[in-house]
Amino acid sequence: MLRDFIVNTSILISSLFIGHQLFQRALVTPSSPTKFRFLYGVGFGLLGMVLIDYHFQVTHKLIVDLRFVPLMLSALYGGYLSAAVTTVMLLIGRVLLYDYSVVAVIATLFVGIGSGLIVSMRISVRNKWIYMNVLHFIASIIAFSLLIENRSLLFVTYLYYAGAYLIAGNIAFYLVRYLRRLTEMFKQFEELSTKDFLTGLNNFRQFDLSLNELSRKAAQFQGTLSLIAIDIDYFKRINDTYGHPVGDEVLKQLSEILSKNGRFIDVVSRNGGEEFSILLPECAVQESVSIAERVRLAAEKHSFRLPDGSSIHLTISLGVATYPDTVANVDELVKQADNALYKAKQSGRNQVCTMVPIQDLANDERKICAD
Ligand code: GH3
Ligand code: MG
Ligand code: MG
Repeated sequence: MLRDFIVNTSILISSLFIGHQLFQRALVTPSSPTKFRFLYGVGFGLLGMVLIDYHFQVTHKLIVDLRFVPLMLSALYGGYLSAAVTTVMLLIGRVLLYDYSVVAVIATLFVGIGSGLIVSMRISVRNKWIYMNVLHFIASIIAFSLLIENRSLLFVTYLYYAGAYLIAGNIAFYLVRYLRRLTEMFKQFEELSTKDFLTGLNNFRQFDLSLNELSRKAAQFQGTLSLIAIDIDYFKRINDTYGHPVGDEVLKQLSEILSKNGRFIDVVSRNGGEEFSILLPECAVQESVSIAERVRLAAEKHSFRLPDGSSIHLTISLGVATYPDTVANVDELVKQADNALYKAKQSGRNQVCTMVPIQDLANDERKICAD
C-alpha cells in the first residue's frame, strides 16, 4: 500500500512538473481563452486517467486512486470549464478502466461540480483549495460508508484514504502554486529588465541587445539597418512650466506616437530621459528618412492632453543613420545618428537630418536637412 502510494504520488508530481514546463509560456487562469481552459481540463483529465489506472487496492472490494487531485487542480486554475472537461474524462476513464459504479460516478460529479462552483467564489486560492478538499472528503466519506459495512474497517480504510489525499494533494497543490509563482516572477523580472517602466517601450539595455543582434545580422548577411535617434525639443520648458508629472505624461503619449508610426518589425526604445530611438531592420536610408519624417509630423500635429484637461503641442528632432548607406561600419550607426540629431538641433529643431546627402526626398511639406 505504501509502495503504491509513493508510485502514485511520484506520477502525480512528475506529471505536474513536466506539464508546467511544457505550458509555462501561457499560464491558464479562469479568464484564459476557452481553447486553453479546455486543453487544461484535457491535460488534467489524462493525468486523472493514468492515476485511475495506477489505482491501489485497500480491501479486496475497495480500490482507490488519486484522481481527485488533478480534478481539483483543474478547477482551481482553469475554472468551471476545465473542471467540467476533467470530470467527464474521469468518468469515461473510470468506466473504461474498471467498470460502472454509481457511487463513483456520483462522487466524481459531486466533486467536479462543487469545485467548479467554489472556484468562482471571491476567496483566496488557498481557501478555494481547502473548500474543495472539504467537499471531496465529505463526498468520499459518504461513498465509503455506502461501500463498507464494517465500521472499524470503514474507519481504518478512510484514515488511509484521507491521509493519502492530504499528503499527495497538498504536495501537488504547493508544487503547482510554487511553479506558477516562480513563472510569474520570472516574467515580471524579464519585463523589468527589458522594458522602460514609464512608457512600456524597450529600455536602454534592451535597445543595446537589439542593436548588437541586428548589427551582427546586417553585417553577416549583407543586410541593411537604420537607426533613428529622437529628442524632444525644449522639453525642459515643459517640465518647468507644467511640472515633472506632466512631463512624464507627455513622454508616455510620445511613446505611443513612435510605436504607431514605425513598422511592425521596428524596435522602439526609450534610451533615457526624453531621448528615444527606432531601430529599423532591412530599411534603406530613403525609407528610414520617410518614416522619421512621418513620426516628426505626427508628433507636431498631436495635441498632448494634460491631466488638467488642457492640451499642448511640441516638436521633436530626429537624426537618421543607415548601414551600409551612410556608414561603412555598423558600429558607427549610433554615433552618426547622434551627430545627425545634433545637426537637426543646430539647424533649428523640428526636423529630420542625415549626415550624407539624400536625393529625391525633399519636397515642400518635408523638413529634411541633408547636405
Ligand atoms: P533641446 O531642444 O536642446 O533638446 O532642449 P531640452 O530642454 O529638451 O533639452 P535638455 O537636455 O536640456 O532637457 C532635457 C530635460 O528632460 C531635462 C530633464 O528635466 C528632463 N527629463 C529627463 N528625464 C525625464 C523624465 O523621466 N521625466 C520628465 N518629466 N522629465 C525628464
Ligand atoms: Mg536630451
Ligand atoms: Mg530635448
